[in-house]
Amino acid sequence: MVAWIPDNKIKEIQHTADIIDIISETVLLKKAGKNFVGLCPFHTEKTPSFTVSPAKQIFHCFGCGCGGDIFRFIMKQNGLNFPEAVTTLAGRYGIEIESQQISPAQQRRITEKEQLLDINNIAMLFFQSVLKKAQSSRKAQNYLAKRGMSEILIDKFKLGYAPSGWDNLLKHLNQKQISLSMAEKAGLIVQRKTKNGFYDRFRDRIIFPILNPGNKIIGFGGRVMDDSLPKYLNSPESPVYNKSKSLYGLHIAKSVMRETQTAYLVEGYFDVLALHLHKVNNSVATLGTSMTDAHVQLLKGCLGSEGKVILVYDSDKAGIKAALRSIPIFNQGFLEVRILVLPSGYDPDSYIMEFGKDLFLKIAADALGVIPFLIETAVKKHGVSVEGKIHILNDLIKPLAGLSDNIVKTLYIKQLAERLGINESAVLEKVKTSSIQQGNRTLGQSRAPFKRLPDIIEGQPKNSGPAATEYDVNKGINNRIEVQLLKMLLQFPEMAEEIRKKKIIDLFEDQSLKAVGKIILKHDDTAKERITDILIQVNEESQSNLIASLLLKEEVWDHKGCQRLIEQFTIRHNRHQTDLLQKIKDAEANNDIGLVTEILQSKQNKARQSDVLRRQN
Ligand SMILES: [Zn+2]
Repeated sequence: MVAWIPDNKIKEIQHTADIIDIISETVLLKKAGKNFVGLCPFHTEKTPSFTVSPAKQIFHCFGCGCGGDIFRFIMKQNGLNFPEAVTTLAGRYGIEIESQQISPAQQRRITEKEQLLDINNIAMLFFQSVLKKAQSSRKAQNYLAKRGMSEILIDKFKLGYAPSGWDNLLKHLNQKQISLSMAEKAGLIVQRKTKNGFYDRFRDRIIFPILNPGNKIIGFGGRVMDDSLPKYLNSPESPVYNKSKSLYGLHIAKSVMRETQTAYLVEGYFDVLALHLHKVNNSVATLGTSMTDAHVQLLKGCLGSEGKVILVYDSDKAGIKAALRSIPIFNQGFLEVRILVLPSGYDPDSYIMEFGKDLFLKIAADALGVIPFLIETAVKKHGVSVEGKIHILNDLIKPLAGLSDNIVKTLYIKQLAERLGINESAVLEKVKTSSIQQGNRTLGQSRAPFKRLPDIIEGQPKNSGPAATEYDVNKGINNRIEVQLLKMLLQFPEMAEEIRKKKIIDLFEDQSLKAVGKIILKHDDTAKERITDILIQVNEESQSNLIASLLLKEEVWDHKGCQRLIEQFTIRHNRHQTDLLQKIKDAEANNDIGLVTEILQSKQNKARQSDVLRRQN
């Protein structure tokens, strides 16, 4: 399907890469019989319905219907196209795809995203080498040393230095014959106001490359070393960088996050670095934005359903703001959240540098859940006089009403009533009234983002939401037989020859099922790698979903049962044809020309659709 990546390379990747390895990087997988299951990274769910088969090297979600092979997973997860997914996997396993194999015309097809990632990588290497070698970076080296950053840590996070001056990177990019308009798109250079040329965006700053979970550089943060402003300068959004979908440090933190099922969420680059320096390696930071649904999805992918996120803040005020914001997003993301507010005057960086890992972990262990945190800060603020209690109640009613789990809500209402020494049912009544008001007012606002959940996965086609991907097997009895026949073809290839001979697939009414059937029949029925070969030929996401689902819903097949299925299909098909003829005859007898034309047209349309599909295949 892609001319410029040779088949043998794709085969080599298929043989080397393991789907369990790859998916485990972002989804916590547990063994379940001969398969593995986990929480689907493509839709929000409480119980795992995302299934991976190591034997078949495919994945399928029984919840949203997505599925396919290892390439499909990478494409969906990272919003890549097929060649990008192949290149990504090749890179991961050190399989070289030589550039000579790419013709100039094919070169043009390599997407913009790939070019931007390449340019970012070139820039990262430049900033890194400047920090390491140049005399002029002495100041930067001293600054990092003063902040306690070790050599190892600097390497691990690929820190660099953008020298002062207007065109250091620009010159370097020119030397490397990089397209300047692409470098501008990546946010590395800025066009001069006079429009004659560009200048470097990052000048005289410590550079923090921002990597995606696949270890690709998607953007940069730059910090000054004195009091000048702005203190931090970040890459603008680009086709590869979206700050509300990215977490700083995730590429390094993800494996420890998976092990510990815990993540520390901080706010700054140096906070992440300081925590990692003290081996609190499950720390990540948002990039100058508040938490978003997409962040929660990312975290959930690594932490699993039992996961816990500890939000670390430097003041009660920031903590309260974050706690209030986190209720709707974490609530629906099914993740436990705790709020850790550091003693006044400290941020995570300065705290752990001064008191060390043990004390940090100790206060983190005492971090409160969102509602208990809000109760305690309200008590601290208002006191427990009668007036104080009224204020506290007022502060808490809305957050309590916002909880979607009724059991959790009841437990917290009880806790609040006990803490304030007031009647539980009085609190309950107040929350109920508020829930109804909130429900009326904010239903549209608070629910809407979650309808869009699948969009969070970057670059995913709009129509791949749960409803669209799940193949509706209840569409009609004919389709159900057609689906069953496809399943048989996939799971019991012994019958393929007979299907071919009887031209059964040509008689299919459902055009998408027909297309899939044709792809299956094109393959050698006895080939060892039949399934992987078939999945490679599949262009449409919906087809990949369908095949994976048919493969995973396993059935026991015997020759006789299969014969019966084919027979049933043929009988139905013939009866349908007879019915149709009768309808036409009746319509003609009644002189109902309109109906005759309608029937014939619908028949013709179907034939035309098949033609189009045949030509495509
Ligand atoms: Zn799913």
